[in-house]
Amino acid sequence: MTPEEFRIAGHALVDWIADYRERLSRGEFPVQARVQPGDIVRQLPTAPPAAPESFEAMLADLERIVLPGMTHWQHPRFFGYFPAGGSLTSVLADMVSSGFSTIGLNWQASPALTEVEQVMTDWLRDLLGLPSSFSGVLQDTASAASFVALVCARERATHYGATRAGLQGGDAPLVVYTSPQSHSSVEKAALLAGFGREHIRAVPVDAEFRMDPSALAAAISADRAAGLRPAAVVATSGTTAVTAFDPIDAIAAITQPLGLWLHVDGAMGGSAMALPEYRHLWAGIEAADSIVVNPHKWLSVAFDCSLYLVRDPEHLVRVMSTNPSYLQTAVDREVRNYRDWGIPLGRRFRALKIWFALRDQGIDGVRARLREHVRWAQVLQARLTADPAWQIVAPLTLQTLCVRHEPPGLTGEALDAHTRRWAQALNDSGQAYVTPAIIAGRWAVRLSIGAEYTRETDVLALAALCQAAATAA
Ligand code: PLP
Repeated sequence: MTPEEFRIAGHALVDWIADYRERLSRGEFPVQARVQPGDIVRQLPTAPPAAPESFEAMLADLERIVLPGMTHWQHPRFFGYFPAGGSLTSVLADMVSSGFSTIGLNWQASPALTEVEQVMTDWLRDLLGLPSSFSGVLQDTASAASFVALVCARERATHYGATRAGLQGGDAPLVVYTSPQSHSSVEKAALLAGFGREHIRAVPVDAEFRMDPSALAAAISADRAAGLRPAAVVATSGTTAVTAFDPIDAIAAITQPLGLWLHVDGAMGGSAMALPEYRHLWAGIEAADSIVVNPHKWLSVAFDCSLYLVRDPEHLVRVMSTNPSYLQTAVDREVRNYRDWGIPLGRRFRALKIWFALRDQGIDGVRARLREHVRWAQVLQARLTADPAWQIVAPLTLQTLCVRHEPPGLTGEALDAHTRRWAQALNDSGQAYVTPAIIAGRWAVRLSIGAEYTRETDVLALAALCQAAATAA
């Protein structure tokens, strides 16, 4: 494709995306894809074409094959999982990143790529009210960031022994502490970092699903008494199921004197810290060794874009650096080489998405959007609980409401079956999309607000749709 052909095809594609977004904002599609496993595979050729095909043919297949196979996360009535960043300015920035098609191997390979990232991670840090003692890097996902955090924790606990001698180098097993409410990526990171399942502790939570600091202290003491080496605590700011915030200050009071690494997973809830009125929820955060927040969740930056912040970048670089000769340059001492701040060598120009999105909305716009979502969740709670059959199963902290419809006399497994039935019926109807999840041992339904085109009227419609689905189930 020549630049001139790209100009024509690009205009057509931008028109296609704009039309898609317009149709989406009008709620034209079923929210959940109406396809069965294998439906898309069956429509695709088993091998690439021998001869070139036209761009028109590709665009036609987007409409014919791909669109029906999409579940629409930016649909006004998408209330599943968590909000995914969907601002169109960040979509355009993504296009620029691919337009450059450069790979940020080091500063010299694309100085602007590094320096815009440096400034954008500072902008985000400041937006979240964090002190300038933190330095940031963009990663693809929170899962990768938490893995890096636990590798850094392991290296600090062993005085770099694991990189020197491999996993066999230590004299006592290292232990990681988290809560049963933490995201599955935390367990995955601990396993991949070599801690071993036997050395991951699920510290009990209180009635509001927050890690219990006294139980943490007891677990650490017991492990130390048994000759194990407590190495890291992963606290969550905004747990996946119910958006609970672990008490960072009380946890830090335990980790700091013992020199344990404190990683805070704020993948979802961290974005709320753009609102000063929520910062008490992570009081004590300055003591964290590392924090992850996903702008690609609630900060409207298109996937992927995960902010990883550390207090000691030198330690991060020492753990992650490899520095082969062909990547060394004369300016290495003066610049950041982000390849040494994470796992991949090459990096995309992700920072452009933040730059464009924040300039388009301004901080006032970002805050207004978040506050609207929180308010709508409160409206939804009030609307549903007008009927006593609806139970709120976890405190409403931000924009995710966790509910259960409990008809009189229905308990135990019958209640679980009822919950799953109405949630599935609602999703299958295509009129809204919600996520069932097990909360405190019983199925409940998470209603998560924040899709790009959701408005208050959609939230009110959701209340009516839930009521109708649950009554019919
Ligand atoms: N941590 C929390 C608290 C989450 O809610 C999620 C996603 O739902 C993740 C981590 C994983 O995020 P990512 O997809 O960026 O790895």
